[in-house]
Amino acid sequence: MKPRYPFRRTCKEVSALLIAREDRDLPWQDRLGLKLHLAMCEACPAFERQLLTMRQAMGRWRAYTEED
Ligand SMILES: [Zn+2]
Repeated sequence: MKPRYPFRRTCKEVSALLIAREDRDLPWQDRLGLKLHLAMCEACPAFERQLLTMRQAMGRWRAYTEED
């Protein structure tokens, strides 16, 4: 049986947390898990950047449609 680290998150969990973070504040355990995972993973920071880019694009799109 593998040892279970309390703050270890899988990529799948991390991507779900990154999406959830857009809508609500995460408990500190999840924030710490995210931080630790992002520090050692290559795929998830790239996914985080994609999310940020998407959110910025959405913000611009909203500002644009509200002008009308
Ligand atoms: Zn990952």
